[in-house]
Parts: sequence; C-alpha cells; structure tokens
Amino acid sequence: MDVRVKVNIQGVVQGVGFRPFVYRLANELGLTGWVVNSAQGVWIEAEGSEGTLRHFLKRLESDKPPHAFIQTLSTEFVPANGYTTFEIRHSDSEGEKTALILPDLATCPDCLRELFDPDDRRYLYPFTNCTHCGPRFSIIEALPYDRPNTTMKHFDMCPDCRAEYENPADRRFHAQPNACPECGPRLELWDKSGNVLAEKQAALLMAVNAIRDGQVVAIKGLGGFHLVVDARNENAVRVLRERKHRPSKPLALMYPTLAHIQFDCEVSELEEKLLTASEAPIVLLRNKEAGQIAPSVAPRNHYLGVMLPYTPLHHILMRELNFPIVATSGNLSDEPICIDEHEALDRLSEVAEVFLVHNRPIHRHVDDSIERVMSGQKQILRRARGYAPLPILLEKSLPVILGVGAHLKNTVAVSSRNQVFISQHIGDLETVQSFNAFQQVIRDFQSLYELQPQAVACDMHPDYLSTQFARAIPLPVISVQHHYAHVLGCMAEHGLTGTTLGISWDGTGYGMDGTVWGGEFLRITEKSFERVAYLRLFGLPGGDKAIKEPRRSALGLLHEMYGDALFDREELAPVKAFTPQERSILRSMLAKGINTPRTSSAGRLFDAVAAILGVCQHVSFEGEAAVELEFAAAKAQTSVSYEFSITGSVLDWQPMVEGILADLQRQESIEVISARFHNTLVEMMINITQQIGETTVVLSGGCFQNKYLSERAVQRLQEANFHPYWHHRIPPNDGGIALGQIIAASKEL
Ligand code: ZN
Ligand code: ZN
Ligand code: FE
Repeated sequence: MDVRVKVNIQGVVQGVGFRPFVYRLANELGLTGWVVNSAQGVWIEAEGSEGTLRHFLKRLESDKPPHAFIQTLSTEFVPANGYTTFEIRHSDSEGEKTALILPDLATCPDCLRELFDPDDRRYLYPFTNCTHCGPRFSIIEALPYDRPNTTMKHFDMCPDCRAEYENPADRRFHAQPNACPECGPRLELWDKSGNVLAEKQAALLMAVNAIRDGQVVAIKGLGGFHLVVDARNENAVRVLRERKHRPSKPLALMYPTLAHIQFDCEVSELEEKLLTASEAPIVLLRNKEAGQIAPSVAPRNHYLGVMLPYTPLHHILMRELNFPIVATSGNLSDEPICIDEHEALDRLSEVAEVFLVHNRPIHRHVDDSIERVMSGQKQILRRARGYAPLPILLEKSLPVILGVGAHLKNTVAVSSRNQVFISQHIGDLETVQSFNAFQQVIRDFQSLYELQPQAVACDMHPDYLSTQFARAIPLPVISVQHHYAHVLGCMAEHGLTGTTLGISWDGTGYGMDGTVWGGEFLRITEKSFERVAYLRLFGLPGGDKAIKEPRRSALGLLHEMYGDALFDREELAPVKAFTPQERSILRSMLAKGINTPRTSSAGRLFDAVAAILGVCQHVSFEGEAAVELEFAAAKAQTSVSYEFSITGSVLDWQPMVEGILADLQRQESIEVISARFHNTLVEMMINITQQIGETTVVLSGGCFQNKYLSERAVQRLQEANFHPYWHHRIPPNDGGIALGQIIAASKEL
C-alpha cells in the first residue's frame, strides 16, 4: 500500500541543482509527488511504498549534488494523496526566510570544458555557468533564489537557454544565471569617459593588449572591480601603487594556471587544495627567490597572495595573457570595492586607463577571500567571496542579535536560531564610503533574512563609528570588550564552552581601566571573563599616531626603562629617527603623560622592537612592522629566548628588551634577535598558561596572523599538554569580532 512522506530540508539546497536531483531520483524510483523551493528551504512530498520512500530519503542525503549541504531534514509519513506524476512546482516566497544563500562559486570543470570548446555554443562566452558554479550571493536581491529575484531578471533567456533551464535532465535545469552569447550579458571596453571602444571578445582582446602594454585596466568581475596590471612589469606596478595611494601593502596576483604559480611559489598539497577549491581564494604562498614577479608587488615580503581564475571571464583573459597579473580591489585605499561601471568611471578614472565592463549588475560587493595555512590547517584571514554569507553553526539557539563589529577589517553578523550569518568583509571604517557600505550591509542582511534583532552588540570603544551606529538604534545595546569578543569568536567556531584561557593579542582594543589593551590573557567563564594577566604597560606618545610610527612605541617603551635619560642615547635607532626639536616635544609629552595613552598592546610591542632593531620606523599599514620581524625570525634557526619576569599578573618585557639591546651591541643578526624575541613571547604564553592551569587555550587577535608566533605557540602548548585552538573559519583579526560580540550579548540576554 502506498504512503506519502512530507520532507522539509534546510541548508544549502537552493542554487545547487537540488530540485532537479530530487526530480531525477523520484523518477528513477518510480515515486510520484512534487518538490518546491520556499523561503524555508526545500519541501518535498513523495508517494510510493514505505520501503522505497525510506530508500529515497537515504539517497537524498548520500547522493546530493556537490555543493549542497543539508542542515536539517525532517520527515512526516501521512496517507497517500493519489499523485500521478512527480513535478517541480513553482517557488513559494511566503513565510519566514531560513533558506541558506549560497556564496559565489568558481567555474566548474564542465563549464570550463565548454568555454574552450570551439564547437560549443558557449565557446569563449565569459558568463557561462551552471547549477554547480557561477554567481549567487553577488546577484541575489531577495529570497527565494529564483531568476526574478536576481540581477539576471534583466535578461530574457533565448529558446536554447530556456530549454536547458526547463529540462530536469540538464546541468542547467533551473540554473538561475543561465545565459549564452545570444541572450546573456556581454562585455564592453570603455575609455575614461565611458566611450565604447569595443564589444564582446574584441573588448577582451583590447584589454589584454592594454595590460601587455603596461597600462592599468579596471575589470568588472564577480563581486566587484579589480585593478589589473602585468605583475612582471615593475614600472606598471609602481604606477598602480601611486595612483591607488597604496605605498607598500602587498598586492594580490592572479595566475593563468597552477603550474605558473609553482614556478614562482612553493605550493604544498593543502595549499594546492585551497587554490583549486570552489571558493578560489587568494592564498598566501612562500615565494621563490628566482620568481618573475616585479619587486613592488610585495616589497620586502616573503609571501605572495595568489589566486587562480574563478570566472569564465578571468579564464579567457588569463589564457590570452599567459602571465601573472596584479588583481587588486578596484578602489582607492580605505574605500570599499567598486561594483558599478558608472561609479567606477567616477571613482577610478584617475587610476585606470581603460575599463573592461559588462552589463550583469552586481547586487552587492564581495571581495576576494584570503587564506593561509597555519599549523597545518586552513586559516581564513579575510572572509568574503566563496564563504559569505554562509553561517557558522552553534550548538544552541540564540535570540536574533546584530553584531556590528569593531573598526578595522569590519564585518557584521546576525544570529538566527543556531546560526550566525557573518557578512562579507567590509573594510576599515575610515572613510564615508566604507561607513556607508557598513550601513548598507546591515540593511541588506536584515532584509534578506527578514530578521528583527532584539538587541545590538558593539565594541566598548565609544568613538568607533560602529559603536555610535549601534547606540543610535532604538534597541538594547550591549557593549562587549574587544579582546573578550576575539576569544569568544574563536570558541564559537570550535564549539567550545566551559572555562577556557583566551590569549588575545592584537594592536588595539578599548580596555576596561582607561588603558589601551592588546596583550591580554583572559579566563573565560560561563557568563563572563576575568583578566588574569597582561603585558606591562608603556606610553604611546601621540596616541593613534603611534600606529603609523613604530618609533613612537619604541620611545614609550624605552622611556619606561630609562626615563628622561633615554633621549641622551643617540645610538638607539628610534631616538635617532626624530629631529632634536621633535625629541624635546616628545620628552615633555612622555614626562607629563600628555596625549600619551598607556597600553598593554602586543602589536605595539612588535612595533617597538622593530623600531629598536632599526627594521622600520614608519609603516603604511597596521602590522607592517610585525610582518618584517616575522620574516626575519623565519630565516633564523634558534629556539633560544630572552629572560622575562612576572610580577603578579603583569608580564614584564624589560629583561627581554635589555637582552635585545645587548645582542644589538654585540652585532647579533636581526634574524636571530627577531627569532629570540618571538620565542620569548611564546615562553611568556606558556608560563602564564601553566600558572592558570586551564587545559583549553584559545589564540585570537591580529598578532596570531603571524605564522612564526602562532605556529610556535601551538607547538609549545601541545608539547606542554595543553589543547590550543586557533582560528580556521573566521579571521583571527577584527573580521571575527562580530561573531564574538553576538555570543557575549547572548550570555547577557
Ligand atoms: Zn558550471
Ligand atoms: Zn541563451
Ligand atoms: Fe582586535
């Protein structure tokens, strides 16, 4: 006797070919009924013998399409209805929105084959995609995920495309962005005034020639514009840096193939996996000495940020060029990435010579994600394309809370039941444009999921724009200490609960005692936290200016040791780095504590040591000095460390700095001193961890992007029988703060 089963599936089940899969499976098993997409996921009703239905349910899980992800599958058996066929019904947009939105996916092998097959109707068509690949998050305007709710609604499918779209046996069945040269988006090449220079493949070939000639080309991609130059052309790279106002921060590269990457970089098995995954992120790879990349791409850096082509447009472009290009975000420093071609003309006309654009609108910006391998695991440093807006799953349900993040590398997040949706990377909230983008992303998230937050969680820093934004919302506001949020974020991604020691080291975070925190050891308890240890304080003459001038941190640190006498020690690099007039101003600032906030920041300690070693006195981006020390340390082979002392809960670096100065005098190499410095910091962590006695130790904060520091800390903690956890799926930097804020706020609600 026939029965009917009602099935509801939640998870990543829309835009991945799930309904055609269900249709084919039902037909194969001779079942009748229907399948439909709704805002709550996929609903199925199937009729047949109970045994066949149970087999059907098993295969729903085991045979699902490659990018599908089943979060929950609920079933209910009821009497049969007498269905005669199995059909795919029209989507239903009513009700609460809980379906997961899929991120943009790199071109799949099948589409790639068609793209370069001269006999295929999509030969060299830059907008080829199918249910296994192509744009998703960047083109979705509303749920459910159907063509009229995407920016593809502007394109009417031709009969051939429609036939694919309607054929359940086709790879493009209900592929919402389905298109071909007849009916889909097309390329144009524009000059700075928006005049059309060429169309379609001719536009692409003209852009290729411009890149070969050393020009800067703005290219509209998947989640925004890239600025592109020949990565081997030193002059072109320099011009790009000048125009973009980006003096030294490394630029990302796109390579034609994995083999090309292997020519310039060391690529491990895991790194190869990351590069070729459907997320197709930028992966930080160790570069080879004999590489072909222009020095200005990543000055004094031992790593290159490298990705492979991830859209058909990029594949065609890279095959034509056959050499690596710089592919950096299409923006001016500190601004969000540009997504609209008319806006690009406006904002990038001083940067790019020509614009390779297309007419498929990008609904929201999605930057390239960045990853690196840390202690044998993938670590995300910037979470955007390929990941956003997939949620982090929690063990238990939370109320709806909005987390607005901090200030730098901002992301926002919203919780809904046991999921926390984390936004794509927004950036530093330094400019009007990025603050606008921040507000836009919050509106976007709330309207996509139709979530009504009960509370807002923000940083404790009263001056952050994100904090001010939170305070202006007529909802309860919960302010969360910055380093506590860092640790809770890392605990949440690992599903850790219970008491834990959090080592939270970064550049800056608002402290609870009027000082700037950043070298913190926090014991996390059920409801709250306790600051169990921290680095000895020193002054930052000039406050925020110290972030751009490591020499200021160095003066503050040395002033703790030598007082006024510091200024007589002209042999010290950071003293020498100031003019006599500047020194006298700094002397009185330090003596009287004027505009000299006190800090326990580990990031500023790195800056101070870099300045003392003469490695750098000025930086153009936060963390630049630490990056240089990290590279120096990696070249030395030593496990020697310096002395340090602990008084109460204060970790004193003075014996270490004395050791460094003695080594300097002895003309010990910067590499060895830097390695000893890193080793000392790790021994400090071990020492405190042993004193506190918690087995679970969480490492979070921007300092743990430092591979030498992080990997050594993990290794030493494991040797000492502790269980260290470090970030894998959300960034250790402030990109992971919003998640931690939500967890902290949920404990108070
Ligand atoms: Zn495909
Ligand atoms: Zn077509
Ligand atoms: Fe931080």
